[in-house]
Amino acid sequence: MQIIRTAAEMQEISAHWQPTIKVGFIPTMGYLHAGHLSLISRAKEECDVVIVSIFVNPAQFGANEDLGNYPRDLDRDLSLMGPLNVDYVFFPTGEMMYPAGYKTWIEVKGISDILCGASRPGHFIGVATVVLKLVNIVRPTLMYMGEKDYQQVAVLETMLRDLNVPTTIVRCPIVREEDGLAMSSRNKYLDSDQRVQALCLANAIRLAQKQFLAGNHDPQSLIELMSDLIIGENGSIDYIRFVDPIDLADVQSIKSDTRIILAVYIGKTRLIDNSAVLA
Ligand code: AMP
Repeated sequence: MQIIRTAAEMQEISAHWQPTIKVGFIPTMGYLHAGHLSLISRAKEECDVVIVSIFVNPAQFGANEDLGNYPRDLDRDLSLMGPLNVDYVFFPTGEMMYPAGYKTWIEVKGISDILCGASRPGHFIGVATVVLKLVNIVRPTLMYMGEKDYQQVAVLETMLRDLNVPTTIVRCPIVREEDGLAMSSRNKYLDSDQRVQALCLANAIRLAQKQFLAGNHDPQSLIELMSDLIIGENGSIDYIRFVDPIDLADVQSIKSDTRIILAVYIGKTRLIDNSAVLA
């Protein structure tokens, strides 16, 4: 495992990828967990070379968000990746990615402004910009991304398509704790009571799935049932929606491939989760 700290060094390496090899890339913000490791393992199975980036991207955090507190521990991340035989870890600094005079931003219109984008204005501009920069530096064939961040994958697939970028996203399923909580670096913020309360996201999804199987296909009535469950656990709802799996527009009647998608505050920690209605 080679640690690369500059874009120039990474580009020097990626400039020499042979066209016939499969280059797999996993962009992360570090503080790795089994969700990240599942993407890396899959890339190792399917690709000839695997690169993981670790970069807490300031551009995707709002002014009052958790950029300063976001967990960072490179040694821990490197030891978790040790057994996976990652080829390169790209670990740039903020100054390197956004040097003085930086001016260019990528906006994927429409799909970036709903759901998480409505609550976090500018978030997906930061995500799209850093991912395009990383893709230009790493030049991957395949980019492995988790459906945990369902809207993020939709935004980035649109960007790659619209800008003719020759990289394909491989969507990977959400990895959960045994009790159902979706793994997230932000789960570290939860105290022991909040860790229990945080189960309300997965439990609300399960409730909606059961209701759907029992014949209730009405988004509004399911959103009310899910809200009651979440509020009962002291969760504070940012949004709960039933959306089309491709364009993420609200649906009027729920079908089996409709996506349930939600964001909930547990204390100050904002957690997200999603699932197909028929999983
Ligand atoms: P992050 O470090 O949170 O930016 O995540 C880096 C990548 O890991 C993204 O593609 C995420 O969707 C993915 N990821 C994060 N949590 C999970 C999870 N629980 N299951 C699967 N993928 C995940």
